[in-house]
Amino acid sequence: MVILLFGPPGSGKGTQSRLLSSWLGVPALSTGEMLRSEVAEGTDLGRAVSELLATGKFVSDELVNQIVVRKLLQPDHARGCLLDGYPRTVQQAEHLEQFLASAGKNRSHVVHLDVPSEMIVARLTNRLQCPNCKRIYNVSSGELRWTTECGECGALLERRADDREAVILQRLHTYHDITGPILRLYNGEHYHRIEGTLPPEDVFLQIQQSLRPHLGPLTPSY
Ligand code: AMP
Repeated sequence: MVILLFGPPGSGKGTQSRLLSSWLGVPALSTGEMLRSEVAEGTDLGRAVSELLATGKFVSDELVNQIVVRKLLQPDHARGCLLDGYPRTVQQAEHLEQFLASAGKNRSHVVHLDVPSEMIVARLTNRLQCPNCKRIYNVSSGELRWTTECGECGALLERRADDREAVILQRLHTYHDITGPILRLYNGEHYHRIEGTLPPEDVFLQIQQSLRPHLGPLTPSY
């Protein structure tokens, strides 16, 4: 079973994808994290995409399609996986569903984290991330009053290069114009609208309730 975490930047896809991954025991794959690691490591791919990432522009469909399909073919992804940040264009969604059909697998389930744009800008301008374990923090939360270190692993928290207001607005435009239309491809039991404005634990509960009837052979850990 492939589950797509869908929603604007800052809607909580990364956080929910980690929670779902441990609940269902399947790997989570974030195309944004993978590309950022390539940039941090200074690989050829990283150098080729770093400017696009810093300005909130998309990497080519061809490249991300290739990265994702290569991952999906690995044996640890055979039972299922969570995709965060992919597909981002109708072409990517069509490519993914064609690949799944050709591999004899079911259509993906889309978990749509619905959050209005005003809330997104506030969330992203206040977001810090651990470069090591990737946990996300909000600077206005009480947790960071005395520290800028990750509560899980102690690394110094960082702001993402693309979490600047001008770039955030560009990313939101792109989401509405190019990514939003993907939702037309998914409907009925394959589409799960989730109220994404609630605290993360309540968002997670909604997702669990919505997905539970569709898990098939996947056994949740609680
Ligand atoms: P994210 O971490 O999902 O917000 O992604 C960060 C950045 O990585 C995006 O703004 C794009 O530059 C790039 N990126 C991630 N996923 C994709 C994708 N599916 N298609 C094109 N570009 C992507």
